[in-house]
Amino acid sequence: MAFVRLLFRLGLVAVVLALGVARPAAADDHVVPTFAPACHAAPGADAGVAALRAREAWICDNTRWRSDVPAAWLRFEAESWQGQKTPRYFFTRIARFDAITFHAVDADGTIRSRRLTEAEGTPFAAGPVFQLPLPEVTADTELLFAQVEGPHSIPLLTEARITHDPGKAEWSQIDMMLLAFVTGMLVLPLLFDISFFVVLRERFVVLHAAMVSAMMVYVLTAGGLASAFVTLPVTLMAVLAPLSWAVGAGISALFLVAFLERGAQSRLMRRVTVATGWFTMFVPGFFALQLDATQPFDDVAYFVTFLPAIAVISAAVIEAVLRGSRSARFIALAWLPIITASVERLLRGLGWHVGPSSLDQMLYVAVGIEVVVISLAIADRFLALRRERDAALTEARMLEQISTRDSLTGLMNRRAIEARFEELLAQGFDTFALVDLDRFKAINDLHGHQVGDAALVACASAIRASGDRDAVAVRLGGEEFVVLLRGPRPLERAEALRQAIPMRIAKEVPGLDLPVTASMGVVVMGDAGRHKMAFAEFYARADALMYEAKASGRNRLAYERLTVFNEPPAARARREEAA
Ligand code: GH3
Ligand code: MG
Ligand code: MG
Repeated sequence: MAFVRLLFRLGLVAVVLALGVARPAAADDHVVPTFAPACHAAPGADAGVAALRAREAWICDNTRWRSDVPAAWLRFEAESWQGQKTPRYFFTRIARFDAITFHAVDADGTIRSRRLTEAEGTPFAAGPVFQLPLPEVTADTELLFAQVEGPHSIPLLTEARITHDPGKAEWSQIDMMLLAFVTGMLVLPLLFDISFFVVLRERFVVLHAAMVSAMMVYVLTAGGLASAFVTLPVTLMAVLAPLSWAVGAGISALFLVAFLERGAQSRLMRRVTVATGWFTMFVPGFFALQLDATQPFDDVAYFVTFLPAIAVISAAVIEAVLRGSRSARFIALAWLPIITASVERLLRGLGWHVGPSSLDQMLYVAVGIEVVVISLAIADRFLALRRERDAALTEARMLEQISTRDSLTGLMNRRAIEARFEELLAQGFDTFALVDLDRFKAINDLHGHQVGDAALVACASAIRASGDRDAVAVRLGGEEFVVLLRGPRPLERAEALRQAIPMRIAKEVPGLDLPVTASMGVVVMGDAGRHKMAFAEFYARADALMYEAKASGRNRLAYERLTVFNEPPAARARREEAA
């Protein structure tokens, strides 16, 4: 399919561009030293700086991090930046918190403190990070404490660093390029969905577009790339990232139900999947808001309430694959990387394992893979649906042919002419020529039915006047036909057709001793054409003329030219009234 090939090509171009741009950029990316806290602690809310100078209270390794506390403390020690520029900025991973108070403690006991809130943080495009300015750190400064009040996540603490340069964080430009690349990957499926929806008004296309949009908000906010374009408040970034992930995951479950083929899911699994979709949008979605009331547990609650989605979606895909669903195999392929990466992210979010935030890249790449593979699955489904639709159309056309055509001669049948009569009359077919073969019964009796049939086919060929757009031939039944004519000299043309019948039959059905002639009853509407006449009325008049033709010796034409004086009395009354 042309669209899929185009998608592949654009993808390839994007990869080449990303690699080309990212390499030189990474080469001159100078390294700015950043310093991690030496220790952390979570004493009571009223713990003072003086009490905290003692080492006993501190945990000086990467264990026992907690965010379910009123305040968490980080301890940066001067030894770490000895001989280098003194730090001026604090930065960490974006999450909600109430305030951070910095205390710079000098050797002589002087303390310079500075309290800053979420609103004073600045996100910048070097990862999902924001920074805050430190109070003055001098050559005499021994310790720097960061007192984080109301932290809503563990990475907000584990990924905290201080540095000399503003806007410098752990993520390299290559990381940011990768994010830009994944974002680019998401734009194409979105365009893809729009064009699909134009042709294929399927619910799953809309759900996929919604899912891709949510994923795009996620990649832009959770990866911090949004800060390259706009400076959003920390609060908004902190909420949008987990919220868009929850919404995207919830929509994925709804998409799954809409996308899987009929019968690929049991009723129960279908219901559970839909329920899980809504649950995931609203419950982890709620904890994503990181409200004050949920501070002690919202990070854990957010991750834990994702477990049903992971379990149910996996089970649903497995069930569908076992039931032979082709779409489910695509989905399994698409979601395997994402489920693997989100389990890792989940464990890291819960603090069960600590790793650099750049591990998130796995998840972004998985999101890109997922979206592209699902787009291919949609393309595949699109082709299947189109094949089904084409087959149905062919069948419908065949059925229509069967019901409107006479099977022996291929002419229109009585049902078709009755249905189209009004339309043909309006198109000017105002001459009705009824044809009946003479003494046809004798042909059957003498030569058999098969020869009779051949004669009927020959007669049909004679009156079909093929290519004549001003004649329509119909087999009414038996050896009775109708030719509708429009245009000049209708009587002469009808007579010519009538005379062509015996010649044609003689030519196509050899061995008949006598010519098979035809009689005609022709009704020409002429200037009476201003009022509509029903098929049955034409037929009755033509049949009466036919009777005359037969009675006066057959092999002839009897006609009647209708004038206004022949019009039905009711129509006449109407016309006179109007005049
Ligand atoms: P007339 O000149 O008065 O019309 O004489 P006729 O023999 O044609 O009389 P009529 O119209 O009553 O008879 C029609 C005959 O056409 C009867 C039947 O045997 C024959 N017939 C009707 N339909 C078919 C058909 O599909 N195939 C064949 N072979 N014969 C048919
Ligand atoms: Mg006859
Ligand atoms: Mg007849």
